[in-house]
Amino acid sequence: MGLLDALFRSNEILGIAEETLEFAIESSEAAHPREYMGFLRGTEADRLGLEQDGLVITDVLVVPGTETNSVSATVKTNQIPNDVKALGSVHSHPNGVIQPSNADLDTFGRGSVHIIIGAPYRRTDWQAFDSQGKPTNLNVLDVDLPETEEFFDFTQADIDEDLRG
Ligand SMILES: [Zn+2]
Repeated sequence: MGLLDALFRSNEILGIAEETLEFAIESSEAAHPREYMGFLRGTEADRLGLEQDGLVITDVLVVPGTETNSVSATVKTNQIPNDVKALGSVHSHPNGVIQPSNADLDTFGRGSVHIIIGAPYRRTDWQAFDSQGKPTNLNVLDVDLPETEEFFDFTQADIDEDLRG
């Protein structure tokens, strides 16, 4: 197996974390009737306790100016190494038509998986598409996302406690 094969194997997208999908659907509903838009980023599967090579979509990087009702997307992206590129995109169709528009097809070439979420934003109101705009299967994985709070939730009292040992 050559180096390129190894790179492609390790960049295989195994699926999307259920929590991440639910977050994107909730955010789409919150943005309604405006469109919600974000980029998908991944975490190496072995960091999530999966014994497989590949990436799991775990983060939505919200495009600035897009309405969202949660801070978790922005917080969680702090954990992603800068060298992990966006795997694709997610956006909503407030008109409920879960098909790529011509404008969507023009942008799908960047990234390998693109999710469209449609009104009325039920758990099943979404579809993944490949870079050609063809419907593609995307597994929803029940994985525990790495907790971010423990890295950020320091208070001065904690630090003082640490210093005292
Ligand atoms: Zn669209």
